[in-house]
Amino acid sequence: MAPTKLTHRHLLNFAAQKPVFFFDFDGTLVNIVPTPAEVRLRGIAKQVLEGLKGRFPLAIVSGRKLDDVRKLVGIKGAYYSGNHGVEIEGPRLSFVEPRSAKSSAFITSLGKELVGALRPFSPGVNSKIYSLSIHYRTIEPSLVPKLLREFNRLVKGPLDAGKIEVFHGKKVVEVKPPVDWNKGNAIGMITARAGKNRKPAFFGDDTTDEFGFRRVNALGGMSVFVGRRHRKTLAKYWIESPAELVGELAKFLFELG
Ligand SMILES: [Mg+2]
Repeated sequence: MAPTKLTHRHLLNFAAQKPVFFFDFDGTLVNIVPTPAEVRLRGIAKQVLEGLKGRFPLAIVSGRKLDDVRKLVGIKGAYYSGNHGVEIEGPRLSFVEPRSAKSSAFITSLGKELVGALRPFSPGVNSKIYSLSIHYRTIEPSLVPKLLREFNRLVKGPLDAGKIEVFHGKKVVEVKPPVDWNKGNAIGMITARAGKNRKPAFFGDDTTDEFGFRRVNALGGMSVFVGRRHRKTLAKYWIESPAELVGELAKFLFELG
């Protein structure tokens, strides 16, 4: 079924379900920028998150490294999850998915190898302890197929040996251990930890967020895709952009009083 356009009215109705609010970061709370290191959380977005945090448990679930996303958001007392759910920290919770932890040395050394071998293309290779991301938004489009071919050649060995998994996002390739653990698991864990009978509301924009939507739907929560309605999503709602999302959240908070 096609998702419904989200407004603050839907959020007001959902408030009765004792929500836990979960947000992806890049592309959800902030627009995607050419190099992820340049991103900033706008003043109003931060105020809205602070406002939510005053009333509900709040969690940020990102593909970035946990430390990185915590610094970017900077709200105390929130839950943070990095590496697509692998790392989680927050009130009475500190967790690293154990199989991912075991792979961290291998992932880190593979990251070093990729930085060296892909240098001619100068992509942003971000080594995140438990996973790697290779950003190619700033690369001349005609060079991207060549970069991806070279990348595929470099990871073929570990991929065939079942030591890694590769997945593609928005102008980014992610490398992670082949562990069946994703944002949905982190959402389940945090929801359970945040208190009895709470329901998750999750906002996300990219392929890895679909795991979150699936879990949230199974838990009877609210799933919201952020972006133009042009691709298949499991989310039940959609909203066009981070700016529009922040606007509806602000109205929601205002009406809650
Ligand atoms: Mg995103």
